[in-house]
Amino acid sequence: MTNENTEITKGFAELGISGQLLKATLGAGYDQPKPIQEQAIPAQLEGRDILGVAQTGSGKTAAFALPILSKIIALGTKRRPKTARALILVPTRELAVQIDETFRSLAKGAHVSTALVLGGVSRFSQVKKLQPGVDVLIATPGRLMDLLKARDVNLADTTWLVLDEADRMLDMGFINDVRRIAKETHAARQTALFSATMPPEIEQLAQSLLRAPVRVEVAPQGTTAAEIVQSVVLARTKQKRQVLSRMLADPAMSSVIVFSRTKHGADRITRDLERDGFKAAVIHGNKSQNARQTALNGFKAGSVRILVATDIAARGIDVPGISHVVNFDLPDEAESYVHRIGRTGRNGASGSAITMVDPSENSKLRAVERIIRMKLPVAADHLGEADPQREARPVGSTDRAYDENGADARHGRERDARKPQRNRSQRGGAGKPGGKSDRAAGERAQNARPAGAKPEGERPFKRKRRSFSGGKRAPARAA
Ligand code: AMP
Repeated sequence: MTNENTEITKGFAELGISGQLLKATLGAGYDQPKPIQEQAIPAQLEGRDILGVAQTGSGKTAAFALPILSKIIALGTKRRPKTARALILVPTRELAVQIDETFRSLAKGAHVSTALVLGGVSRFSQVKKLQPGVDVLIATPGRLMDLLKARDVNLADTTWLVLDEADRMLDMGFINDVRRIAKETHAARQTALFSATMPPEIEQLAQSLLRAPVRVEVAPQGTTAAEIVQSVVLARTKQKRQVLSRMLADPAMSSVIVFSRTKHGADRITRDLERDGFKAAVIHGNKSQNARQTALNGFKAGSVRILVATDIAARGIDVPGISHVVNFDLPDEAESYVHRIGRTGRNGASGSAITMVDPSENSKLRAVERIIRMKLPVAADHLGEADPQREARPVGSTDRAYDENGADARHGRERDARKPQRNRSQRGGAGKPGGKSDRAAGERAQNARPAGAKPEGERPFKRKRRSFSGGKRAPARAA
C-alpha cells in the first residue's frame, strides 16, 4: 500500500476498522467513510444496537457489514452445522444478491463464508450451502421461514441480526415473518434495523427488537438528494407511451430506469418501447430470479439502456450512473417516489427524475410534494394536445373496441414508426416529448389494467407465491 493509500483509508481506521478489512475498503474504492458509516460503525463495534434511517445509496450496507465482519474475523472459523452467525434479512432477492456481493468483496482474503437464502431459485443448493454452518446468511423472509420450518437452518447461534429496508418488508407483508425469525435468533444478539422511512409500525418493530439503540439518520425523512433535478411532465395516460418514446430519443438519457406501478404495466411499457424501437429490459415479481438477474446484469453492463421496473423489484438496486428516472405513473405511496428517484444522483453524481402526471394523478402528486417539501416544476405540458389514440382509432369504434380489436392496424402503424425521431414540436424544458402530429403509436388505453389487478406493492402477502415488484412507467428528463 502506498502512503497515499494509507492516507485514504485513515478515515475507516479511525472508526475502528483494521487489518484485512481496511485493505478491503480501499479495494472497494471507498475513499472516506460515508456519514452513515461514521455514525454506525463505531457504535456497532462497541456492541450497540442501531436504528438507521437511511436509503439505499447512503452506504448503509458497508455500515453494517464492516463491524459484523470485523467481529466474525476475530472469532475464527468454528461454526456449528446449519447455523449462521449473522443474519441479514432483506425484502427482495436483488437486494440480497447485492448485499452478498458487498460482504464477499469486503471479506476478500478472510475466511468468511456467506450464503443466500431466497425464493425463486433452487432450495436444494441453499440447504447444502448451509449444512456446514455459515458466517453470514443473507435471506428474504419467506424462504427463510420455509427452511426454518423444515429445520434446514438453525438460528440459535445468530448473534448479529440486520433488518434492511424494514419499511419495504412491512409493505410486502413480511413483518410477522420478520418477528418470528427474530425470535429464533440468540437472545443476546446485536441488532441493526435500517429503514428509509419510519412509519409507526416500524417504530414499534424497532422498539420490540432493539435494545437502547443508537439512532443514526443520514437525511431527513422523505427528502431527496439535492443532486437530482426533478420535474413533472403533464400528459394524459394515453399519451404517456408516445411522450416516453419521444423523451428517450434524447441521447442524454443514457441510462434510464422507468417505473411502473404494476407488473402488468411494466410488461406493457417494455413491449411498447420495443415496438417503438428501443431495447428495454424489465424486472418485476412475476419474472424468474434468473430473468431478473439477467435483466439487471444487462442494464448494469450498459448493453440495455432502459430498465423498466416495479417499485419493489427496483428496491435496493444499486446501479451506478443511472442518468434518469422516469415515473411512468405516480406510486400509490408517496414515499415510494423518494425510493424511485434515489436510483439516480448517487454518490454525488447528478441525475434527473421526470414524473409523468395524468390529471387523475394530481392528488398523488400533491402527496409527493408534501413529502419532499417542494413543488415540482412542470417541464412540459401535453394536456392540450390532440388525442393520438382518438385520431388513430377506426371511426365509430369505442376505446374498448379499439383496444381489443385494433391490434393489427396498430402494429402496421407502429412498424412505420419504429425509429424514434426527435419531435418537430418539442418545446423547451425537460422532457420535451410528444408531437401532436405523431399518431404512429396508436396506443392502447395505457391505464387498462386487468379487472381486479392490484398494484404490486399493495398485493397482500401470500406464503407460496410472493410478490416482489411494484409498478412503474415512463421517464422524463429534467432541464
Ligand atoms: P448502499 O447504500 O450500501 O447500497 O451503498 C451505495 C453505494 O455506495 C455502493 O455502490 C457502495 O459500494 C458505495 N459505497 C459505500 N460506502 C462507500 C464509501 N465509503 N465510499 C465510496 N463509496 C461507498
